[in-house]
Amino acid sequence: MDILILGALRDRESGYDMNKELVGKRSQNTDADRRRQPTRVEAEAAVRTLIEWAGDDPDREGLLGTPERVVRAYEEFFAGYHEDPVALLTTTFQETADYDEMIVMRDIRLESHCEHHIVPILGKVHIGYLPSDRVVGISKLARVVEVFAKRLQIQETLTAQIADTIQKVLQPQGVGVVIEAAHQCMTTRGVRKPGVSMVTSRMLGSFRDDPTTRREFLSIIGNPRSGIASA
Ligand SMILES: [Zn+2]
Repeated sequence: MDILILGALRDRESGYDMNKELVGKRSQNTDADRRRQPTRVEAEAAVRTLIEWAGDDPDREGLLGTPERVVRAYEEFFAGYHEDPVALLTTTFQETADYDEMIVMRDIRLESHCEHHIVPILGKVHIGYLPSDRVVGISKLARVVEVFAKRLQIQETLTAQIADTIQKVLQPQGVGVVIEAAHQCMTTRGVRKPGVSMVTSRMLGSFRDDPTTRREFLSIIGNPRSGIASA
């Protein structure tokens, strides 16, 4: 903490805004320190507690292996916390001077989990961008979706994260991301609205500013019907 105060004083003298960065790094470290990763045994015990809370007996035969299986499933569902989508795109983009048409990948399968109930969000993602000079293999765009989807999410944040990452790394003239998804927390519990899907979008650059570009993109992906909520 002393170091931070000294840093702040020095910043004021030199006019160099270093303190903000230091504080940012410091608080990140503190958060990480506070969040000790529980052991596998602790995680399995927590699942056992939830089974009891639901009203069943975790020692009956059918449930004996369930805590272990659930913890393994969580490793798959939330593998995205251990991957860096920016690095994924940065190491694989290619420079190209002669391609300036819209690139669209539609109907990318989406499997995520809502951060409010930890139940599935299932749907599809459409991505379009207008390259300036960097392009990336289409499988890498699907991987970026996967890395963000395999975290606890809300659809609006997920939509924005995918678009912002593509914008940041590929620096295209524009990017558009549209997600259509059904939330099982809405369809199987609470308000119980089966068949309802939510559409979110994030339009950047020419996809935001140029109605022709946006229309072309929306027409290629088949004009999602519901009112689009901007992320
Ligand atoms: Zn939910």
